[in-house]
This record gives sequence, C-alpha cells and structure tokens, in this order.
Amino acid sequence: MISINRLNKWYGDFHVLRDIDLEVAKGERIVICGPSGSGKSTLIRCINHLERHQQGDITVGGVHMTNDIKRIEQIRRNVGMVFQHFNLFPHLTVLENCCLSPIWVQKKPRREAERTAMEYLERVRIANQAQKYPGQLSGGQQQRVAIARALCMHPEVMLFDEPTSALDPEMIKEVLDVMIELAREGMTMLCVTHEMGFAKTVADRVIFMDEGQIVESAPPQALFNNPQSPRTKEFLSQIL
Ligand code: ATP
Ligand code: MG
Repeated sequence: MISINRLNKWYGDFHVLRDIDLEVAKGERIVICGPSGSGKSTLIRCINHLERHQQGDITVGGVHMTNDIKRIEQIRRNVGMVFQHFNLFPHLTVLENCCLSPIWVQKKPRREAERTAMEYLERVRIANQAQKYPGQLSGGQQQRVAIARALCMHPEVMLFDEPTSALDPEMIKEVLDVMIELAREGMTMLCVTHEMGFAKTVADRVIFMDEGQIVESAPPQALFNNPQSPRTKEFLSQIL
C-alpha cells in the first residue's frame, strides 16, 4: 500500500530524513515513536506531500509520487490525515467540515455527502453534535470529528500524527477507542504516537526513529521487551 525507498529530505542544510525504507502492506497497522525532533512528523507528511522530499521514492496505492499536482491529488484522495491539533475549520459546523471535501473534491451531491458524514459521525459517536461548531466541542470530540472527516473521503490509508497528545487525559481514551475500532476493521494505519498501550493493542509493527533514521522496527512485544539498539532502550526507559 505504501512503499518508501531510500527517502532523504533536507530542511535547508539540515538532513532531517536519512535513507528511510518502509513498506506498509494493506491492512497493516504501524506505530512510529521516537524522540522529539527525530523526523516522525516529517516522514508521515511526506507520504501525502505536505512536505516535499529531495531524494528517494514514495509510492502510495500504486501511484508514484512526483511533483505533478494530478498525482499528488490522486494520492491525497486515498490518504486520510489526522493532526495533533485537529485542524477543523472553525467557521463550519461539524457536518459541514465533514462534507467539504466530498462535495468539492469528489463532486458528490450534498445530500449524499451529508448522509455519509452522518454515518461516520455516528460511528465516532458524535452524530448528536453535527450542527455545532468545533469551538463548542471538547478536544476529544473535535478529534473524533477530525477522524470522521477523514473517513468521509473513504481513504485506503489513515495517517495519524500524535492525535491524542493535545488532549486532556480523560479524553484520550475516547479517541484511542475510535482508532482501535478502525484498526480492527482492517484500516491501513500509520500512527505517530507515544501511547504504548495502543501500540500493544493494535500495532503489527512499532518503528523507532532517531535523528532522521529508522533505528529499529519490530512487533510491539519484541520492541518493548527486547529492544536491540541502545537508543531504543534509552528512549523506552523514558516513556514506559
Ligand atoms: P515531535 O515529537 O516534537 O513532534 P518529530 O519527530 O515529529 O518531533 P519533526 O517535526 O519531523 O520531528 O522535525 C524533525 C526536525 O526537523 C526537527 O529538528 C525540526 O526542528 C526540523 N523541522 C521541522 N519542520 C521544519 C521546517 N519547516 N523547517 C526547518 N526545520 C524543520
Ligand atoms: Mg511531530
């Protein structure tokens, strides 16, 4: 589903991603962890071209990423993204947030877009807030709307960038529960998160990144119980 080969990226002189190789199969669930500044966000943002890379190849759903806007749009239609700070449109209601891309990008009739949006809002247990504005919702509710909004485009892959790290502790579970459900339904997922309970519950593989490199990649039990690299050991000792 996602194939990344020898990916290198620089911000000016700063070599932020170094020779990243990553294969994600359909239905696979991958958690990415690592210290602040290690390049986790940059890596997943390259997958839908929110960041441009300078070397290497990225292929998503059989489409090879180039700077061609048609290809970028083709990939983006297939990839849902959920950010740390929700990024909902504040001046649109929950329902309008969910319908925007289906109507304008997929050219769906409004009624059909609204019906689909209500189904997904139902699934993230927030359909009763559909007419509210994001500012009237809690952080956990806004993040569930953000997940529903991404799902309304029927993506084949979902990217999450620390979706619970801006939330108060009591709201983390309601968002993780939605993500666990999604994982169980077979969604291909790439999640940057330090929620190791989530990783143990659903991840097929956990990837540890440091200084722009993938240092280690293993199933959660193996990575947590028997990390191979001293860098992984040190990181885990700080967060577990
Ligand atoms: P965190 O856990 O804090 O979110 P991260 O692993 O997601 O960290 P990135 O956001 O990918 O890290 O950033 C990797 C490095 O690249 C950091 O040193 C950061 O300062 C730098 N960086 C990120 N974005 C830019 C940018 N637009 N221009 C220049 N440097 C950047
Ligand atoms: Mg980040």
